[in-house]
Amino acid sequence: MNAAVPATAFRAADRISAIGVSDIVRITQAANELKRQGQPVIVLGLGEPDFDTPAHVIEAAQQAMAQGDTHYTVLDGTPALKAAIQLKFRRDNGLAFATNEITVGAGAKQVIYNALMASLNPGDEVILPAPYWTSYADMVLIAGGVPVVVPCSEANGFRITPEQLDAAITPRTRWVFINSPSNPSGTAYSTEQLRPILEVVLHHPQVWVLADDIYEHILYDGLAFATPAAVLPALRERTLTVNGVSKSYAMTGWRLGYGAGPKALIAAMAVVQSQATSCASSISQAAAVAALTGPQDVVAERCRAFQARRDLVVAALNASPGLRCRVPEGAFYTFASCEGVLGRTTPGGVLLRTDTDFCDYLLREFHVAVVPGSVLGLAPYFRISYAASMADLQEACARIQRACKALF
Ligand code: PMP
Repeated sequence: MNAAVPATAFRAADRISAIGVSDIVRITQAANELKRQGQPVIVLGLGEPDFDTPAHVIEAAQQAMAQGDTHYTVLDGTPALKAAIQLKFRRDNGLAFATNEITVGAGAKQVIYNALMASLNPGDEVILPAPYWTSYADMVLIAGGVPVVVPCSEANGFRITPEQLDAAITPRTRWVFINSPSNPSGTAYSTEQLRPILEVVLHHPQVWVLADDIYEHILYDGLAFATPAAVLPALRERTLTVNGVSKSYAMTGWRLGYGAGPKALIAAMAVVQSQATSCASSISQAAAVAALTGPQDVVAERCRAFQARRDLVVAALNASPGLRCRVPEGAFYTFASCEGVLGRTTPGGVLLRTDTDFCDYLLREFHVAVVPGSVLGLAPYFRISYAASMADLQEACARIQRACKALF
């Protein structure tokens, strides 16, 4: 016992003072708490495929463990995985990268984090077309940067326009993020839609592109996937292309993502990674080799299953009074407007002023958990993650329709 030394309260670092646990995680936790209390809650909050990791990937991991691939690996990716990533970029995107232009981290998230930590000085700006994945803004803040949020109109399919981008660029701009297909809007950019945006970047030599291609393979209606480094090769030396196995191969828990870009950036990212995690899991890296080089038909199969779910959810939302939902091109999210229900009063007497009020109403009264657009950079909207079973989606949609009808 040392009674002379009083306990001091924990004091968080300034760099995280503006950041909390992700709002999406918080909403999911609230929903799970209701579930534990016995409420029949359907959680459409998290962006996580409900499929299992393909069997041949699991076998590759088991084999890796059995043969002793259980040690630290090279800092930013095993030679076997880098070769598999080279093959993937050639096969799917027509892009050629040397091994020192490739990096591997514990998820696409760590790759993005490494890039920001390796490149941003205090006050450097990062342009985020909104709506955007919330982690982008928080990671920029942790790295000492300034998120510059550009609201993208529904009329333009939630895409940034070349004019908007040009107006947002300043001498402090370091990055513009392009996430196609997008979390949360589901919007994808075609080659024709990307080119004029990238041409703006080309005119501003201080600006780099971070292309987050994590939803590449979840793209519907036969649309062709387009990635910035391939659309405008002149920008290749200023582009980091980020991808991973989480969404395409239902491997979120394996924590394995990768990036490809100019070697000076990749080397700086390795410095960050060397002091954070050393390397991604050796077993996950072996599994990712099997995912990227093995049979790819499972990817297309699952995409078809997601498309059927998208169609169900979009139709149900558009049949709900006060809601309006454009048809997303990819990912597994809908981003619907709830403008038409604002100003309405719930049967319990609560005035709905914001999208957050509407989402609270859905969770409290109808036990459906969704994410308000205001935490994703654009209001009044809400995001549904339809990576859930058809049965759950049907039930959730019926509840949302009842919730909306009760307001009119
Ligand atoms: N980018 C986007 C747009 C995402 O939605 C996610 C996952 N929610 C990630 C990156 C991170 O994926 P990973 O599991 O590879 O870290």
